Amino acid sequence: MHSTMMDVPLLISEIVERARHFFREREIVSLVAVRGENGPTPQVHRTTYGEVAGRALRLASALKAAGVQPGERIATLAVNSYRHLEAYLGVPSMGAVLHTVNIRLHPDQICWIINDAQDQVLLIENLFADKIPTLLAGCPSLKKIVVLGPLPQAIEGVEDYDTWIMASEPQARYPEMQETDAAGMCYTSGTTGNPKAVTYSHRSTILHSLASAPKDALNVGQMDAVLPIVPMFHVNAWGLPYTCAMYGAKMVFAGAFSDGPTLARLMQDEQVTITAGVPTIWMGLLAELDRAREAGEPYQLKLERLVVGGSAAPEALIRAFWTRHRLKLAHAWGMTETHPLGSVSVTPPGVDPESDEGFALAAKQGVAVPLVQLELIGEGGERLPHDGRSMGRLIARGPWIAGSYFKGTGQSNFLDLDGQQWFDTGDIATLDARGFMHIQDRAKDLIKSGGEWISSVDLENALMAHPAVAQAAVIAMPDPKWDERPLAVLVLRPGSEAPQHDELTTFLAPKFAKWWLPDAYEVVESIPIGATGKFLKRELREQFKDRVAA
Ligand code: ADP
Repeated sequence: MHSTMMDVPLLISEIVERARHFFREREIVSLVAVRGENGPTPQVHRTTYGEVAGRALRLASALKAAGVQPGERIATLAVNSYRHLEAYLGVPSMGAVLHTVNIRLHPDQICWIINDAQDQVLLIENLFADKIPTLLAGCPSLKKIVVLGPLPQAIEGVEDYDTWIMASEPQARYPEMQETDAAGMCYTSGTTGNPKAVTYSHRSTILHSLASAPKDALNVGQMDAVLPIVPMFHVNAWGLPYTCAMYGAKMVFAGAFSDGPTLARLMQDEQVTITAGVPTIWMGLLAELDRAREAGEPYQLKLERLVVGGSAAPEALIRAFWTRHRLKLAHAWGMTETHPLGSVSVTPPGVDPESDEGFALAAKQGVAVPLVQLELIGEGGERLPHDGRSMGRLIARGPWIAGSYFKGTGQSNFLDLDGQQWFDTGDIATLDARGFMHIQDRAKDLIKSGGEWISSVDLENALMAHPAVAQAAVIAMPDPKWDERPLAVLVLRPGSEAPQHDELTTFLAPKFAKWWLPDAYEVVESIPIGATGKFLKRELREQFKDRVAA
């Protein structure tokens, strides 16, 4: 029997209208880079949801007037700011697809992505104006380039965003749309081969926003001030712009700034309660909080939750924030193909968050959020038990998990299990009986020694708890007997002496089986970091390809 309930489509217009009416006075604060003698300096810009939503609807009209058709892609190359938020709200409001491009990619890769997506219009931050000639020459699909923020001098064929949108009236009516229509587009970072694109629908965006806000997820409500440090070009800043606009949370954007002192000051000044970023950002913030406290001028912060994801947060980092500053890091896991929110680690009832068990759970990636299912499969495709020990490929299923890639590439990432479609994340993980998922590795980074798997992530996290070690990346080195053995590449803390091999072995020994312990250590000045803030292990493997176990 069919139900008697209304079949109302889930559309992003719902978010825009809530922001425009219910939260019109709520503030949006952005740090804008102003050119100074010593490089860009931050200046605070204040606006409101009412203003932003109104300008977003002008953008929708301007795009239509420029001939953009529903379903066409509009690219952004932009930092986190109110103008980027306008694109988030305005582009899908006229039926087009918001394609957020990673600004840290090489211009050749940017062109490849824009051409693959056939983007029609590009909204580009004035800070990256030097890329415009290359993009004009290399991206024939682009009909228009619009610059966000003032330009020192006019460039031919390029519009100024503020002037352009203000010449149009706000869109009066939303076009007819299906909830399954594409609203957003993101490319994976392409660590293997060319990047692949995922398109998010209106429906998946609405459901993802609903599921991201609750207390046991990212904890976002009207009373919050949210600072996403994760870039808006990286999986939609983990969906936070839509979640905040849906629930009316104040938004704070750090623009092009990500250093510890600027972030700490911004958090203090704007009374930020929720913030989100990758572990390296939190390492920088921790150093600044420690420095300020030692100098006798601690920051006065209102932070309730620092969401950490993108790569594993070492337990030592989670402990350091809590024990030294009473600040709580909440671990979340996801990826481009999962919109991204897949799981969050919150302390379950009956566990003391300050106990060893509490910190160990906080260092795991947590329990699947409602409507997301996670499973493990073995090398033969068989389901593995949720016993906290069996390591397998993590597969995911849910209404905001990709069911295919743009243009049908990457078919092998999707599988059928008992008649249901699943997405193979490429992560190797364990799951326990309570549902806690623990990432062990990316499948391509696993170390296979004597037919058994060694988790590089576990070794890295343990090494980063050593007082002399600032960063650790563990990679496989070829070994004639065992196929592969672990090599740990270390960056030392300033002023620290390189620890001896034996000392590190003694340090790690209580936590691991003997055969897991690294056979070799290398100290380097820095570990190469990719466009989304993660260690580039591919480059490290290349650098140390001739290294063999001693
Ligand atoms: P890419 O896969 O191209 O690096 P994504 O940003 O989509 O780009 O990254 C997703 C991957 O990042 C996940 O599959 C996982 O390996 C890793 N990841 C994300 N969050 C976490 C986390 N909290 N802990 C460990 N790894 C994580």
